[in-house]
Amino acid sequence: MTFDMIRQLLRLPSLLEVPSLLAVEPHPDDNEVGAGATIKLLTERGATVRYITVTDGRAGSEDTHVRPEALAAMRAEERQRANQLLGVTASDQLGFEDAGAWNEDDLIRVLVPLIRQWRPAAVMTVDAWTPYESHPDHWKTGRAVSAAVIYAKNGVVQRGEGEPYEVPQVIYYGSAYPNTYVDVSETWAVKLAAMKAHASQFDNAGWDLLSQFLTEEATRLYREQYGADRVGQVEAFKVLSSLQLHFFPQAMRS
Ligand SMILES: [Zn+2]
Repeated sequence: MTFDMIRQLLRLPSLLEVPSLLAVEPHPDDNEVGAGATIKLLTERGATVRYITVTDGRAGSEDTHVRPEALAAMRAEERQRANQLLGVTASDQLGFEDAGAWNEDDLIRVLVPLIRQWRPAAVMTVDAWTPYESHPDHWKTGRAVSAAVIYAKNGVVQRGEGEPYEVPQVIYYGSAYPNTYVDVSETWAVKLAAMKAHASQFDNAGWDLLSQFLTEEATRLYREQYGADRVGQVEAFKVLSSLQLHFFPQAMRS
């Protein structure tokens, strides 16, 4: 069954029509890097966008003179500025240790009741199955969010922690297998500004090259979608229904 057939069968709205989104990121800047321009489009259309940031970002510097606690505090402030630029409605930090020894079950246990309470029309996170992705916080977060989505609808799991709720669709950024492209030409500059609000990560000598790389890649993908004579940017996502998150090997090709 193709991606479109499944979406029609389940009557899933297109990505830009979801009224509420829960975006779970491993580190304080990942939602911006992966989906900042799409998040801005959603909030402009009146969607409720809630963030959960899993880790405190304390390992976001290779300079051993920087105190990890001080960096975590700085990144919390940068995160707020980025949230304001994108119009994010609500934002929570779970405070797991960046690059720490926490496991997926710890995170699943926290996420299941939050999903049942907030009942988002879509959940967004990083794609844990992208080849060569080597940061454990990214695998653990992407997999734990996906597991929490299938557990949230099963009232036997974490019984008593909220009414069961089925998340209709899950949106992955940073995916090697994208199936959905969002025209973000209007909000591309805001995405870059929101990324740069994470000054400890991006306001440095490498920014010009990085922003140029991201823009060229988003422009190349735009041309692939809309024609070689047009100029604009897209963000690419893997979107799956929650049905495709268990015993569904076709999901990779959907
Ligand atoms: Zn990250």
